Amino acid sequence: MAVTQAGCDLTYCKMRGIVSVLAAFIKERKMGLNDFIQRLVSNPPICQHADVGSFLKIDENQNEELDENLLCLTHPRSSLAEETQIKPSDFDYLKIIGKGSFGKVLLARHKENELYYAVKVLQKKIIMKKKEQKHIMAERSVLMKNIKHPFLVGLHYSFQTTDKLYFVLDYVNGGELFYHLQRERVFLEPRARFYAAEIASALGYLHSLHIVYRDLKPENILLDSQGHIVLTDFGLCKEGLDPNGTTTTFCGTPEYLAPEVLQKQAYDRTVDWWCLGSVLFEMLYGLPPFYSRNTAEMYNNILHKPLVLKPNVSNAGRDLLEGLLHKDRTKRLGSKDDFLELKFHSFFSPINWDDLMAKRIVPPFIPTVTGPTDLRHFDPEFTHLPVSTSLCNTDNLHVTSSVREAAGAFPGFSYGPPSDAFQ
Ligand code: AMP
Repeated sequence: MAVTQAGCDLTYCKMRGIVSVLAAFIKERKMGLNDFIQRLVSNPPICQHADVGSFLKIDENQNEELDENLLCLTHPRSSLAEETQIKPSDFDYLKIIGKGSFGKVLLARHKENELYYAVKVLQKKIIMKKKEQKHIMAERSVLMKNIKHPFLVGLHYSFQTTDKLYFVLDYVNGGELFYHLQRERVFLEPRARFYAAEIASALGYLHSLHIVYRDLKPENILLDSQGHIVLTDFGLCKEGLDPNGTTTTFCGTPEYLAPEVLQKQAYDRTVDWWCLGSVLFEMLYGLPPFYSRNTAEMYNNILHKPLVLKPNVSNAGRDLLEGLLHKDRTKRLGSKDDFLELKFHSFFSPINWDDLMAKRIVPPFIPTVTGPTDLRHFDPEFTHLPVSTSLCNTDNLHVTSSVREAAGAFPGFSYGPPSDAFQ
């Protein structure tokens, strides 16, 4: 039977029409179903019915961490797990390796692929108490999906349970940069230059995506096992982002706070160049600029004290520091052409930026690590903590309105890249 071109087109058009009608139908049904489940689970007595449980596929044989997921009764898994299939029980949690403002970071091994990851677990309630979730989590988690840079930690997955957010990150075990700095007191200029260049290129990249890191702090600058910089915690919630917050929002790292942040003025990307200046200063001189053991005095120094640079650093180094640590952000190095201004500064003239980006420059120092479970560079204060408490930190497992609120407060958070899943 001969089929004409016109006939083919017609069939194709018809089929497309049918498919789109079907898709719309399925979507509508799906929304109806979601709505139905939503109503179902917001009625606790109905939820306890065995048939409802099996309909919702509530598995009673979950481990203790997953018990929290029973709270999903208040919000169906379908909405919380979103598209990602990944869940807390996919990992073995081996050690606590760090603590941040909103939760803990754990070394974890994926049960199936046996690869190691750093899993950051944030408590929704704490984030919500600080009223950060709307601005930061939603917006930043979207942004994070597209972030890829050699010196920024890679995000593999993010997912959530009723009361926690999970970030599955590259596991970086060369230790915090400042752990090594403390051991050596200062770094020689070439080493400081190498780290500053890697950090600057990462910050420049974030700026190109309109992200301001804002509070670059020593504990977020890690070394990988080869000795390259990895910045963590970018784009996640941070303390101090709310300009109306109290001074307690500064409790993280007062040393590196830029004058405009201290004064709660508007800030822009130049705040990151101030922080880079602080990091570089500390690497070269052994203490942060304007340092005082008395915090009030240090604040005052940051705001008013002129920068004094001792001569044991090269002219180029001091010139760069003066540019980065300019109190007036409009005159700060980077205020016009951002990263480009740093890139072409004489301090960085020995750096071939293409080689740097391609990790072709051999790092000046290679951390000693025998393997992924070698935790010698992590603080025993954390690694000695029992893991179970970190994951079962269930303040209140009763279904309260605040839990319910937290459960639904992070729509669109879950993320799983389609192609490079756990590569
Ligand atoms: P954060 O909440 O990002 O400030 O992390 C707290 C601490 O956990 C950091 O200071 C690091 O020591 C550790 N940490 C964070 N992310 C990672 C990671 N991807 N790999 C290894 N350690 C990490």
